[in-house]
Amino acid sequence: MKKKITHSLYPYIALLLSFVSPLPIYAETLASDILVSDNPVIALPVTQTCAGAPWPNIVWIHVHDNEETARQTALHALSQIQQGCLLDLRHGGNREVSVQNSQVSYQFDPNRIFTPKGRQSALKCRQGDCAAAMAQLTHAANQFLSQYLAQKQLIVALHNNQPNSGLSIRNYITGGSMAGVTRQIVTNSDNNAHDFFYVTSQRAFDFLTIRGFNVVLQNNEDISDDGSLSVWSAQQQIDYINVEAGTGHSSAQLAMLAAIWAYMQQYYL
Ligand SMILES: [Zn+2]
Repeated sequence: MKKKITHSLYPYIALLLSFVSPLPIYAETLASDILVSDNPVIALPVTQTCAGAPWPNIVWIHVHDNEETARQTALHALSQIQQGCLLDLRHGGNREVSVQNSQVSYQFDPNRIFTPKGRQSALKCRQGDCAAAMAQLTHAANQFLSQYLAQKQLIVALHNNQPNSGLSIRNYITGGSMAGVTRQIVTNSDNNAHDFFYVTSQRAFDFLTIRGFNVVLQNNEDISDDGSLSVWSAQQQIDYINVEAGTGHSSAQLAMLAAIWAYMQQYYL
């Protein structure tokens, strides 16, 4: 289903401007430099940056290290909110994480490792004991999920795409390359097609569509398991929202995060 609506983003930009002045953000590096290690048990390279007290039931997450607009926009929004934490995978500035240790070298897309089936496809083993690589990756992914995400009620992921050639909401419309994952979709021609929400709950879909955004609702009952965080979240019945914007679309992504902040306050805080 596709329908077009028009709506002003102004209230959300105004909401952003109403945030009080930022406090300094502090970062805690929880695990890093795993890319070369003699330790056969790896951990995902997580940096947690908090702008105040963590939310007990919500987390924001940034997994692709090359998507800098999303990272900076998230940190900026958190500094205005003065609460909450961003989980940030930092691994050399690339989309994929590379691991090299005494047993094996391999790489993977960090947003394809959250289910067993996803890991089977995601793991690119270059050299060495590839069974060991799968065991390491499974341990690292499960550890990450249980430590940071399994107890949450809302996960807000931030991504960027390439505004010229990359992913846009058009991919999710009937006939598009991603149409198979779409349960419901609303596009608003006032928005850039590269700036859209991808959500797993009807509640988030309704909240964001009536505020004039481009939104895709994932078909949780009939989606192929690619190991992504949206699939895992649907399996766990955790509310998941991907805030997806074109690279460099900072103000659009910030306005989207202001709507997320309103959603969080209405339902979770
Ligand atoms: Zn991404």
